[in-house]
Amino acid sequence: MHFRRLKLSGFKSFVEPSELRIEPGLTGVVGPNGCGKSNLLEAIRWVMGENSPKSLRSGGMEDVIFAGTAQRPQRDFAEVVLDATTDSGEELEVVRRIERGAGSAYRINGRDVRAKDVSLTFADAATGAHSPALVSQGKIAQVIAAKPTERRMMLEEAAGIAGLHVRRRDAESKLRQTEANLARLEDLMAGLD
Ligand code: ATP
Repeated sequence: MHFRRLKLSGFKSFVEPSELRIEPGLTGVVGPNGCGKSNLLEAIRWVMGENSPKSLRSGGMEDVIFAGTAQRPQRDFAEVVLDATTDSGEELEVVRRIERGAGSAYRINGRDVRAKDVSLTFADAATGAHSPALVSQGKIAQVIAAKPTERRMMLEEAAGIAGLHVRRRDAESKLRQTEANLARLEDLMAGLD
């Protein structure tokens, strides 16, 4: 999957609508301390479904919304749009929006979807909010110090099989539900005899 463009509005320090074109060959973003370089990486994680406060350097979910400065009032919403092209050439526009007091909503190509649909879309393309391709400060030390099970999770995400685990858990839960229904049906049928 190739990420082509990132659009931000009201996300952290990006109060004005801003656009980053991710051209082939882009290998880094430079700028003075505090200008928002890490916020860009966090916006990519966030639109892919990240909710962990640690990973987003935030306290609560709404902390990603521009909080205001001495000169500017806070914003009521934050929106991030990620334009990507899948390996099969399909164009993808993924939108995540959060409004104060109303939580997050996601859209893929204009259609309302669940957070899970977004993370599965990226997991199947061997990427996602925890992709090893997104290297933030301290990440290398974290990989070295990781426990074998954590390292295995990183490898599975890189291999694109993380989505299969989610589907397996879903299938197992449906199976348990069906078994419970069957047992209940047998009880009812025994009662009819
Ligand atoms: P460094 O090189 O120091 O790591 P950086 O370029 O990566 O800096 P970021 O950490 O991405 O910069 O940006 C931090 C800036 O974003 C700070 O000025 C912080 O005040 C601002 N910021 C973060 N969250 C919000 C928010 N919700 N509202 C307004 N500004 C925010």
